[in-house]
Amino acid sequence: MTSNLTQNLTRRGVLAGGLGAGAVTLLGTPSAAQTTGTGPRITRFEQAAPFPVNAYIVEGDDGLVVVDSTLTVTSSLALRAQIDATGKPLRAVLLTHAHPDHYAGLGNLTAGLDVPVISVAGVRDIALRDDAAKDALIGGMFGAEWPRNRVFPTEVVANGDTLDFGGGLTFTVQDIGPAESFHDSLFILDGGHQHVFAGDLAYALMHPYMADNTNSDWVRVLDRLQSDLAEDATLHVGHGRPVTPGFLQWQRDYIDIFEARLRAQDWSDPDKASAAVSAGMRDYLPGDALAFLMELSIRPNAERLGLL
Ligand SMILES: [Zn+2]
Repeated sequence: MTSNLTQNLTRRGVLAGGLGAGAVTLLGTPSAAQTTGTGPRITRFEQAAPFPVNAYIVEGDDGLVVVDSTLTVTSSLALRAQIDATGKPLRAVLLTHAHPDHYAGLGNLTAGLDVPVISVAGVRDIALRDDAAKDALIGGMFGAEWPRNRVFPTEVVANGDTLDFGGGLTFTVQDIGPAESFHDSLFILDGGHQHVFAGDLAYALMHPYMADNTNSDWVRVLDRLQSDLAEDATLHVGHGRPVTPGFLQWQRDYIDIFEARLRAQDWSDPDKASAAVSAGMRDYLPGDALAFLMELSIRPNAERLGLL
């Protein structure tokens, strides 16, 4: 844990009144590789531009599994190059959820390889359902960096399934359902310490995307996971550094404060109200990290709450 992050969290916690500093733990250093004792080695691969998003390389004795694929052409090709450089075969790609910053790079990641892309059915179905809309929306935003060779899960797994890729690479599937996105899932690496590939169920001190408008589901999942996961589990999240389950309370507080700020505005002037919500959330979490995702979420949530 870095001391400046701890201090920021503590200060924010006091200001927000809803965060006990002791409940929050960030782990690791940027892009650090972690070993799991005698088990697989986990490397966080971070797309740096135009915004941070993680994929993970899980390296076993004689093969690799990758979790998620990042968004851009540049990043997904760099991820593939990093995999090729290990000299170990890619056994599978696991997809946590169907947002484009996690699945759009799958085509580059797996090009020319005969490897399964694995998800729960709900994640595959949402990716297929929404890809045309994402293509229209995001293709314009990212231009040449938006992969045209997108592929989708080829193999569906179910809640509780055990996925054994050999060489110590064994994962258990948790089908979460709607939470941060329309359908989320977890993959838990089997072994002594609990390593959880958690997708975007928590954003490690970055502003979240809430425009799927599923926050009421998300907070229920956050509450449940805080008690279900091992207290010292490592959550490898989609944006930012690894966290522990205690951090899920920070994520819940963020959502609660966002909704309170939405309700506190006078929506007769929507632009002014939106700006006030954005300023309020930047006060809670200083900095611009993924703030555009939070800002995209303001109006849809205001409509859901009957404010607009
Ligand atoms: Zn994401």
